[in-house]
Amino acid sequence: MSKFKNIILLGPPACGKGTQGKRVAELLQLPVLGTGNLLRKAIDQKTDLGLEAEGYINKGLYVPDSLIESLVAEWSAQNTEGWIYDGFPRTQTQADFIDNTAEITQPDLVLAFDVPQADLENRVTSRRQCDTCDHVTSTFVYDKEECPEAGCDGKLYARNDDALDSFRVRYEQYEKMTGPLFDFYRNKGLLVEIDGSQKPEDVYKDVLKALEGDTVSA
Ligand code: ADP
Repeated sequence: MSKFKNIILLGPPACGKGTQGKRVAELLQLPVLGTGNLLRKAIDQKTDLGLEAEGYINKGLYVPDSLIESLVAEWSAQNTEGWIYDGFPRTQTQADFIDNTAEITQPDLVLAFDVPQADLENRVTSRRQCDTCDHVTSTFVYDKEECPEAGCDGKLYARNDDALDSFRVRYEQYEKMTGPLFDFYRNKGLLVEIDGSQKPEDVYKDVLKALEGDTVSA
């Protein structure tokens, strides 16, 4: 069993954070904070947070740090025994928020996924997500509208922000604002880089190696 209990998933949109995060969560019995999914739920439910976030997300822009931080603080208060962060932190301010918030257990591993931009563009334009359970699949492997997850009667949809022009804005934001976090966590001795361009099974094998603690000194 892995010694890691507080794991950040870092990487560009559609790099496989969600897919790998789900498997790691099942393996280690840890809850996942998916900020993107929480924001989309808030938009569907038309909460104040959702109404404020919607304009940013549909344009491919990051939502303001303060909004994300209140979401994370609320989630963290209920999830104190280990966690996986998928999509947080995305800015230096958010990373500093983790460092400076005593109630949050500090990360002990950062899995950083590298995938070339061209591969990401293929992935987002074929990506489909369930409107009920958030299962993610691709039109390359499954082309029906019904969610393939057992017991779920949700429908698959293409996210607004997965349109190519919106994706390119997201990718630009990612490079500029999230890219520097690779060095930030490398300098803390927490970063393990993973080749996310491989098949999901092979990515998972590398994730398992990282969880065994072969490649990180922390
Ligand atoms: P992806 O992994 O494909 O980028 P997500 O579902 O994680 O998709 O995020 C979708 C959108 O939600 C982001 O483009 C951004 O607008 C917003 N978002 C999610 N997490 C954050 C964050 N930590 N900081 C700012 N914006 C965020």
